[in-house]
Amino acid sequence: MTQVPLLSLKSLTKNFGGIAATNDISLDVAAGSITAVIGPNGAGKTTLFNLVAGFYRTDKGRIELNGQDITNRPPDQIASRGLIRTFQLVRPFAQMTAFENVLVGFHLQTRGDLLSAIIRPRWLQEQERRIREKAAQLLDMVGLGVQMDTPALSLTYGQQRLLEIARALAAKPLLLMLDEPAAGLTSQETAQLARLIKIIRDQGISILLIEHDIELVMGIADTVCVLDFGRKIANGTPTQVRKDPAVITAYLGPVDTKKSLANV
Ligand code: ATP
Repeated sequence: MTQVPLLSLKSLTKNFGGIAATNDISLDVAAGSITAVIGPNGAGKTTLFNLVAGFYRTDKGRIELNGQDITNRPPDQIASRGLIRTFQLVRPFAQMTAFENVLVGFHLQTRGDLLSAIIRPRWLQEQERRIREKAAQLLDMVGLGVQMDTPALSLTYGQQRLLEIARALAAKPLLLMLDEPAAGLTSQETAQLARLIKIIRDQGISILLIEHDIELVMGIADTVCVLDFGRKIANGTPTQVRKDPAVITAYLGPVDTKKSLANV
């Protein structure tokens, strides 16, 4: 029996005016995989993310999570089903510490109401203790354990990106959707990010990644999906995609299709 993909996009189309930002895109994300979506500027990557995360409504097509239809559900419902995204622009709660920022990420996990917040029953204290412990573990995992009491605004840009990932992990994703996580990072930070993404995958969390840093993508992705002008032009392993003439043409222009993407 073939395994149902964790996420399955079927013929997704989204038009803006006369432009098809995504045009009939189908893509499966296998459970436990790192799937990268790449493509030149304007290829439709962000639109695809926004469709999956429920920020845009599809004009056509279907989105399934573990075989269940989640097309056009609102973003909060998508998130509560385990599809958690980060954004291109980092936006931590600047005045709060790194630790407090991660605590916020646990809100999908917690239960409680005004009354219990006032009388603070034992189960609530226990829930808080577990969350604080887990938040500290997540900060350690992304390499920010030492900075846990540092206000987010005092972290470097790269550290803020890692903090955003820790906050997203607090929501216990099935699928973590990372929108250009390497943007603005130094090469050392990018290498640290690559290690972190693999660790997250190895813990059983699937990753869907939009990224312009081709070397990062080729180094960590199990599957690479290439978009160009809203269409999917290739899909396969990094090795397959590197050699694909349509991909080389999209990145380098219609020059020498024998060239390898290694130089891109
Ligand atoms: P980049 O790498 O530059 O972020 P991208 O691959 O993420 O690009 P999208 O941002 O998805 O591409 O854009 C795809 C196309 O859809 C572009 O032509 C863009 O101008 C258009 N587009 C995207 N969002 C909107 C919008 N909200 N309104 C109108 N047009 C849009």
